[in-house]
Amino acid sequence: LDFNGLGLLSPLSAGLSAAGYTKPTPIQAQALPAALAGRDVLGLAQTGTGKTAAFALPVLQALAKADKRARPHYPRALIMLPTRELALQVGTVFDLLGLHLPFTNAVVHGGVSINPQIKALAAGVDILIATPGRLIDLMDQGKCKLDNVVLFVLDEADRMLDMGFLPAVKKIVAKLPKAGRQTMFFSATMPNDVSGLAESLLHDHVRVEV
Ligand code: AMP
Repeated sequence: LDFNGLGLLSPLSAGLSAAGYTKPTPIQAQALPAALAGRDVLGLAQTGTGKTAAFALPVLQALAKADKRARPHYPRALIMLPTRELALQVGTVFDLLGLHLPFTNAVVHGGVSINPQIKALAAGVDILIATPGRLIDLMDQGKCKLDNVVLFVLDEADRMLDMGFLPAVKKIVAKLPKAGRQTMFFSATMPNDVSGLAESLLHDHVRVEV
């Protein structure tokens, strides 16, 4: 499989060139056909396998294919990660792959002032990349509405639970629409609590593993 056979929109092929990706990694080759078809995905993969593009390309493609007249002011994609470093890295990948698309993203994480994040959200964001604690703060302050999220990615789920984020994740998930949502769930390991969370979030999913 190569990137050409996937039916990617031309701005995304251009994004791949911008990123310098010429050939899909194994997790991308396995996950992309299902994810681009709109299926939920459970991915078992470590950092460094290329899993970011495995979910970023389907998110960008789904947004690009959606009705342009129906672009709400609020995030349509939510990507959750356990740490600030990971969130910033994922933001960079969305910047690169989405270079030729009109979508905005915002990265929100703790350890920095919340005010610029509130401003970014108020200006309107298509893709929200967040760590759970700060996202809860923003939600509690009424600064972040998740009703329009139709694409949800939970990355590094095992680390998320190890760090004690399960209650926060559950609180956030409770605010997401259920119907019509595509969910992609990635974890390096799959202990019982992680697979339980995956089961509760995924609908008729495809499982991929590298
Ligand atoms: P990730 O596991 O998503 O953090 O990706 C690990 C590294 O692989 C990052 O430096 C990516 O830029 C790079 N990468 C991801 N996909 C590809 C690809 N298809 N070809 C070349 N490099 C890639």
